Amino acid sequence: MDEGRRLHYLAAMGIQVWQPRVAGESVGTPAQRGSQSAPDPSSEPPPWLDEPPPWTDDDQPPWETEEAAADRLDAAPDPSPAVAATDAQHEIAGLDWEALEARVTECRRCPLCETRTKTVFGTGNRQAELLFIGEGPGQDEDQQGEPFVGRAGRLLNKMLAAIGRARAQVYIANIVKCRPPRNRNPEPDEAAACRAYLERQIALIQPKLIVSLGAVSANNLLGNREAVGRLRGKSQHYQPRDGAAPIPLLVTYHPSYYLRSPAEKAKGWQDLQRIVHLLEQLPKS
Ligand code: URA
Ligand code: SF4
Repeated sequence: MDEGRRLHYLAAMGIQVWQPRVAGESVGTPAQRGSQSAPDPSSEPPPWLDEPPPWTDDDQPPWETEEAAADRLDAAPDPSPAVAATDAQHEIAGLDWEALEARVTECRRCPLCETRTKTVFGTGNRQAELLFIGEGPGQDEDQQGEPFVGRAGRLLNKMLAAIGRARAQVYIANIVKCRPPRNRNPEPDEAAACRAYLERQIALIQPKLIVSLGAVSANNLLGNREAVGRLRGKSQHYQPRDGAAPIPLLVTYHPSYYLRSPAEKAKGWQDLQRIVHLLEQLPKS
């Protein structure tokens, strides 16, 4: 991408870039200079802001059929019997991946342990640049022990494919690791009880960019109560509690929202392209 286009996209994302001006500088023809100059805030938005999304929600992800996913998950071991948890949050912050996953499998830190079938730890690349955080397991996830494997998950897979990412390249987790009954939102005390696990996952992954899928994720990670419509398209950061550097965070709608309101999918496509452009700009934290 040339510099003019890059600046134009950044401006469209609300990111300002300081550009030195060199006195008397004159490069190329006036038309070329026009395409290389800093963005005019009043100029037209980039064309992709109005593009329809390039995916549907009724076909299969190209890399794995539902049957193949079910076979793979059938082969996974059942969680071991739950035991009383006495661990403090600071202890969780020192665990490695294996110990963390084992701790989640046996966790009884909140009442959601009473009704879960399987804990849903998270899945994907543990060195991913991109970390997607949803709300909590639904029925399919609770049965299979993996996040985003139901209808919303299949749509998420297609959204990822649209920006050239396979599910295995990113990391996918949730605010709570056990299914809230009847898919209600997790209560604040449940999210708080589960928070140390997610914080440790974030610290181990060190993603370049966190993508919050939906309001529950965004509100828990940003500590606010704002609607997604007010949070998306703005520069946000997740601030780790251990004082580590803030991590850029992008808020977008939950894939279930597009299943309910297909006409809104263009907004998801805008946000996916923002993600791609942000990844090009950001250093790995
Ligand atoms: N919705 C979520 O927020 N997370 C899942 O894992 C599945 C559906
Ligand atoms: Fe533990 Fe989190 Fe499950 Fe609650 S939701 S029991 S804190 S793993």
